[in-house]
Amino acid sequence: MVREEVRRALDVRRLVVKIGSALLVEPDGRIRRRWLEALAEDLAELHREGRKLVVVTSGAIAVGRRLLGLARERLRLEEKQAAAAVGQIRLAHAYDDSLGRHGLATAQVLLTLADTEARRRYLNARATMETLLRLGVVPVVNENDTVATSEIRFGDNDRLSARVAVMLGAETLLLLSDVDGLYTGDPLRDPEARHIPEVASITPEIRAMAGGSASEVGTGGMRSKLEAAEIATGGGTTVLLARGTGLHPLRALRTGAPCTRFAARTTPKRARKQWILARLEVRGRLVVDEGAAAALQRGSSLLPAGVVAVEGAFEKGDAVAVVGPDGRVLAKGIVAYDAEDARRIQGCRSPEIEARLGFRGRDELVHRDDLVLLGRG
Ligand code: GLU
Repeated sequence: MVREEVRRALDVRRLVVKIGSALLVEPDGRIRRRWLEALAEDLAELHREGRKLVVVTSGAIAVGRRLLGLARERLRLEEKQAAAAVGQIRLAHAYDDSLGRHGLATAQVLLTLADTEARRRYLNARATMETLLRLGVVPVVNENDTVATSEIRFGDNDRLSARVAVMLGAETLLLLSDVDGLYTGDPLRDPEARHIPEVASITPEIRAMAGGSASEVGTGGMRSKLEAAEIATGGGTTVLLARGTGLHPLRALRTGAPCTRFAARTTPKRARKQWILARLEVRGRLVVDEGAAAALQRGSSLLPAGVVAVEGAFEKGDAVAVVGPDGRVLAKGIVAYDAEDARRIQGCRSPEIEARLGFRGRDELVHRDDLVLLGRG
């Protein structure tokens, strides 16, 4: 029987599915085509139901090292990066092929963890992903291993997938792994180990259960799954940890396969507001007219047309205060232009932005998703 909570977690607007190397790549480095085909079928089914899907996939290094004949146990960072660069092409093709059979367009998105943090690159990464989703494309994300500056760790994609899910306000992150969830002990060694279907909060006891198990081709083990769950649930995304080794892992889940569900601790919207309020130092002020002030209260974005003054030196992606004509701070938000460009387009209607800047930028100076009204919940 499918648990109601699991059914609801899959019945969402946006779903991020994370796929570990161990599922996708045979120990000898070949891509498990049949498995991928079956996954693509599952994804196509969800896509037809109108859900927006994002895949975060590992496997580039596992595939690339075989192609390069780097079978040795431990690779140096540069070798891993080289292997990833070679393997990523194969990986992307394999997804494109499999999803393409169902008429789905895929996009290769390579991110670093830093790209999912604040500021400029975050805004760009999110805007691109939003556009892809709007166009019905399935972004296939991996870490941009070529530019990774520290040791690439298996399990980084667990965290990356959590960041991506939070960045996109996805309701659910599905971590497909080689175990069907969290157990009270190591199920391979301890016959008494019990499966835990539901985790309301990640306590030290829960952490102790995770231990440090890792599989052969390389998953991050349970610990990195918990870290991902921590990031995701704090950002308003529910996490399902399920076994993905069999064919049609999503179908299995939808028909009652066991999993562990980590409940979101907040909603994506609330988490985002908290993030804007708590983390970012205000670098400038945008003074707006009455009309814009009223529009903000109604939940609109801040357009350049309503701005009468731009104060401070800020970069795109910095936090700014939005100030009303009476000098009262109305809102705090993340600005989509740097101070210089903001000054150039202040007072401008959207169609004029391009002529002023010489490029077609965003219509909003601060998008409503990036605004928190003050003095309101
Ligand atoms: N980005 C690495 C790869 O594609 C994997 C990282 C991970 O397994 O978490 O091989």
